[in-house]
Amino acid sequence: MIKNFFLTLSDLFYPQHCAACQKALREKEFLCEDCWNQIEPLSKPCCDICSHPLPNFDLKICNNCADRKIHFVAAVSAFHYRGLMQELIARYKYGRDQSLKPLLQQLIVKALKDERLCGIDFVAVVPVPLHFLRERERGFDQVLPLARQVAQFRNLALQSVLKRTSPTSYQAGSGREKRLYNLEGAFALRRATSLHGNYLLIDDVLTTGATLNECAKVLLQAGADQIWAVTLAR
Ligand SMILES: [Zn+2]
Ligand SMILES: [Zn+2]
Repeated sequence: MIKNFFLTLSDLFYPQHCAACQKALREKEFLCEDCWNQIEPLSKPCCDICSHPLPNFDLKICNNCADRKIHFVAAVSAFHYRGLMQELIARYKYGRDQSLKPLLQQLIVKALKDERLCGIDFVAVVPVPLHFLRERERGFDQVLPLARQVAQFRNLALQSVLKRTSPTSYQAGSGREKRLYNLEGAFALRRATSLHGNYLLIDDVLTTGATLNECAKVLLQAGADQIWAVTLAR
């Protein structure tokens, strides 16, 4: 009886089927070997600031970062946002497939090994917020469980100090310029606070970096020293 109870609990945390292709698994893993092999880690050389892949090690930052004011020190991701990774994030985020949550939590932690994050003292982890209308529509905040996992792993507080004041930023295909423009003033502090020290921003995906940049700007304006960011994929 007791043994069955524990088996059920462990089955909950480690499903016996691959989360991506549903193939039965012998090991307690989230994905089968084939699916693990389809998730592509980001590798060096990449932009020091936004982690965009670069053609060689002589370059330190990408054209995109050279061209604009970046408010965060570095945005780190563990994986390419394409193929199976893109599919898994879409199933979780838009398809509301909560069974993928433990897998994605495990995957975001891999980004924390990046040397750019080593030895930095953070005050807290800050999730990039959803607009409340978007959250109501979706039924959950997809970033919060990722931020919670990072906070737990680095033994940091989770502080949801930001809010999204405009729901306009999810216009897929609206073009980079329009997206950047739309994000001006899209984030604010949830309540007036003065911040001190370094903060670690968490989002699911980095595309143009505009979201993280705006969030970092708000945190700096509130008194934060420096901002780093971690996303699952870019
Ligand atoms: Zn699989
Ligand atoms: Zn860059």
